[in-house]
Amino acid sequence: MMTTPQHSNHAPMLGQMMNKPLLISGIIKHADRYFGDNEIVSRRAEGDIHRTTYKQLHQRAKQLANALAKFGIGASDRVATLAWNGYRHLELYYAVSGSGSILHTINPRLHADQISYLCNHAEDQVLFFDVTFLPIIEAIAARCSTVKAFVLLSDASHLPANSVIPNLLSYEDFIAGHSCEFEWPNFDENTAASLCYTSGTTGNPKGVLYSHRSTVLHSFASALPDAMNIGSRDVILPVVPMFHVNAWGIPYSAPLTGAKLVFPGPALDGKSLYELMEQEQVTFSAGVPTVWLGLIQYMEQQKVKFSSLKRTVIGGSACPPAMMKTLRENYAVEVVHAWGMTELSPLGTTATLQAKHLTLPKAEQDALLQTQGHPLFGVDMKIVDDNGKELPWDGTTFGNLLVQGPWILDHYFKNEGGHVLEDGWFPTGDVATINADGYMRITDRSKDVIKSGGEWIGTIDIENVAMSHPAVLQAACIGIFHPKWDERPLLLVVLRPNVALGKDELIKFFDGKVAKWWLPDDVLFIPALPIGATGKILKNKLRETYKDYVLPSK
Ligand code: ADP
Repeated sequence: MMTTPQHSNHAPMLGQMMNKPLLISGIIKHADRYFGDNEIVSRRAEGDIHRTTYKQLHQRAKQLANALAKFGIGASDRVATLAWNGYRHLELYYAVSGSGSILHTINPRLHADQISYLCNHAEDQVLFFDVTFLPIIEAIAARCSTVKAFVLLSDASHLPANSVIPNLLSYEDFIAGHSCEFEWPNFDENTAASLCYTSGTTGNPKGVLYSHRSTVLHSFASALPDAMNIGSRDVILPVVPMFHVNAWGIPYSAPLTGAKLVFPGPALDGKSLYELMEQEQVTFSAGVPTVWLGLIQYMEQQKVKFSSLKRTVIGGSACPPAMMKTLRENYAVEVVHAWGMTELSPLGTTATLQAKHLTLPKAEQDALLQTQGHPLFGVDMKIVDDNGKELPWDGTTFGNLLVQGPWILDHYFKNEGGHVLEDGWFPTGDVATINADGYMRITDRSKDVIKSGGEWIGTIDIENVAMSHPAVLQAACIGIFHPKWDERPLLLVVLRPNVALGKDELIKFFDGKVAKWWLPDDVLFIPALPIGATGKILKNKLRETYKDYVLPSK
C-alpha cells in the first residue's frame, strides 16, 4: 500500500527534475548522435552479408515511420513481424514502437495455425516477413483477416512471380520515396510498445504487452556489469531471436550502450555462427543451451578456438554445468547463467560472484555460478509453499517462485486468463530454492516436477548429472506413472556420436551425486529429443509419447 511521510503537515515536496518520458525512440536517437558510426552487420535471409551504421539505421527507421503513417498505421495499431535477426527487423523495432504503434513479433517456428491465430488475436494491420517464410505466409494469408498488407523484407526482385498472397509488397518499395525526416512523437512512457506471446506449451499462447517504460528500464538494468555487462567497445551477436522476447532486450541495450551488433539471420548452425563471430570479432553473445551445443560440437570437430569471444549469457532453460565448464576451461569464455521469462521482459536473475565469494574454494564458486543467480535491481523475488506461506532462504527449501517489478507482467493482453497476480506478485510456475545471499536455483518447472510418494524430485538436477557424463550429449527426465509411488523418473538420453554407454553404467554414474530415491527407474537411449519453437526440450511431448511406458519392476 502507498504511504506518505507522516513527519509534517505539508504536502510532499516533488523533486524538481525534468519529467522526460522513457521512450524507445530515445534509444535510437542516442545511438545515432553518439555512436553513429558504430556498425550493424547482418547475414541476410537473401544469403549475403549487409553492413550499416546506427546513423543510417535511424534514417531508415524514420523513413519507415513515414511509410507506416502514410499507410494508415496509427497509435497502438499492431504491426507484426515474422523475421530473423537482421537490420530491417531492427528498423521495424524502432519505427513501429517509436511512432506509438505496437510491434508484434511472431515466432516463425510455431505451427501455421498458431501463427494465424496470433495475427487475428493481436488484430495485426500489416505483417512484415523474411523471404524464408514465404510458404508460411502463402498458407495463412487468407486467414489473417485484419492484415491489410504483407510486406516481404527484401527488394522487389525477391517477390514471387505469381503469388496467392493478396496485397504483397516489398519492404524497399514500401519505404521508397518517403522522407527520412521524422519527429518521433512524445507520449506517456506507459504507452504499449511491443507484444510477445508466450510459447503456449499449455493451451493457447497469451500476449505480454510491454510498455516503453518497462522496455527502457529493462535495457538499463540488463546492460549492467553483473547482468550482460555490455558497453560501447563490445561486439554483440544475439543468437537469441528477435522473435522471442525481443532477443532478451539486446536490440535495445546494444544501441543504448553503443555496442556494435552482428545479426546471424537464418544461419544458426555451428559453422555459420563460428565463422561470423570470428569475421566480426564478436566479444559477447547470448542464447539458449541448445544453440551452444551445436557451436561447441562444431568447434570440437574442427579443433578451432575463439579469437575474440569473451562472455556469453546462457538461459531460457537450465545451462548444464558440463557446458559451462567446457566453455570456460576449453574456450576461455565466461558464462553468465541467466533466468527469465516472456512475462519478465525477460531478464530476472543472473549468476555472477560478489567480492566476498572470490576467496571461496572453486567448487563453491562453481556451485554459485550454476544457480540461476540473483535478481537485477528492479526485480524482487520470494518462494512460497502451496498455501502462499513464505519459505526460508536456506538454499535447500524449495517452493513456488514469485516475482514483482516494473518490467514484470501485471495481466495478459485482452485480459486472457483474468487476474494472475497473487497479492501483487507474479507466480512464475517455476520451483526454486534461494540461498542466504539471494542466489536462486530453479529445481524445475512446477508442471515438470516428479511427484514420488508425496515428495518432489527435481528433474534439472538429474539431467545435469547425466549430461556431466562424457558420453551424454543431451538428457531429459520425466515422471512416469508408478502404481506405488505415483510417479518415478524415466531418463531419456541422446548419446554423443560413436560412443557406447549402457543403462547400468549410467545409473552407477549417479552414485553419490543425487539421493538414492532420486535415481531414474529406467534409462532409454533415443536418437533425438523433441525441441520446441524457442529451442527448449518439449517435456510435454515426451510425457505424451511415453505416457503408457511401463517401468521395470524393482
Ligand atoms: P515459454 O517457454 O513458456 O514461452 P519463456 O520462453 O518465457 O516461456 O520461458 C520461461 C521459462 O523458461 C521459465 O519459467 C523457466 O521455467 C525456464 N527458464 C528460463 N531460464 C532458465 C534457466 N536459466 N534455468 C532453468 N529454467 C529456465
